[in-house]
Amino acid sequence: METQDFVITHAELSNKEGMSLQRGMNYRPGDKEYSIFLMSVSPDAPYNDGFDAENKKLFYEGEDVSKREKAQPKEHDQPFFTKTGKRTNNGKFFKIAEDYKLGRRNKPEQIKVYEKIKNNVWSDKGFFYLTDAKYEHNDRENRKTFKFVLEPVSSHTGLSQEEYEDFEFSRRIPTEIKRIVWERDEGKCAKCGSKENLHFDHLIPFSKGGSSLDPKNIQVLCGKHNLQKSDKIL
Ligand SMILES: [Zn+2]
Repeated sequence: METQDFVITHAELSNKEGMSLQRGMNYRPGDKEYSIFLMSVSPDAPYNDGFDAENKKLFYEGEDVSKREKAQPKEHDQPFFTKTGKRTNNGKFFKIAEDYKLGRRNKPEQIKVYEKIKNNVWSDKGFFYLTDAKYEHNDRENRKTFKFVLEPVSSHTGLSQEEYEDFEFSRRIPTEIKRIVWERDEGKCAKCGSKENLHFDHLIPFSKGGSSLDPKNIQVLCGKHNLQKSDKIL
C-alpha cells in the first residue's frame, strides 16, 4: 500500500528514478512525463521550502544564481535566465506555471517531490501539481525570489476515503518531527528492527483523531508491519 511516507536512501531514490539527481529542480529528467523536485526543510537548509498545512499547499523556493556567475548567490535576485540567455530552472518552471494559469496548457505539470530528512535519508512525498508561481520581493532576504506553489494530486484511485485522508495527512508530518522520530527509532522498524521498506506511521490514524505534530504518535515501521497494522484498522 503506497499510502505512507516511504523512507529511502539517495541511492534508492536514484535507482527508483533511473538516474542520480543532484539538483533541486529537475525538468522531466530522462524524458519522464513528470518533473522532480528535491526538497530540504532543515533549519540550516539553503532554501525555504515548506508546507502550508492550512491551505494544503507546498511552497518551493527557486534556485539561486550559480556560484560561477556570482560569488555571493544569496545577495542577488534569483534569476530567470543564465548569463548566456537560457532559461534557468526557475525560468522554465515559472513559464510552465504561467502557461497553465493562462490556459495555454490543459493540465498543470506533475511534480514528484522527495524530501530530505537528513543525510542520505529521504522521504517520497508522491505527486503534486505545479499550480502557481510567484516572483516577488522577499523582505526577509531583501531580494527577489521565486515561490512555486504545489498542490497534492488528489486522484489516487483505489484508496478508500479513510486511506486517502491518512495519505494526505502523512504527507504533512513536518520534517522536524520525522527527524526526531527517525533518531528515536534509530532508523529501524519500531516492531522488528528491520531496515527494509520503511515508512512513517501514525499510531493513531488521522481519521481517528491522531496528531502528526506529536512524535509520540509517529513511528517508523517496515513494510510488513505497516501492512499488518493497516489490515487491523480496516
Ligand atoms: Zn517490522
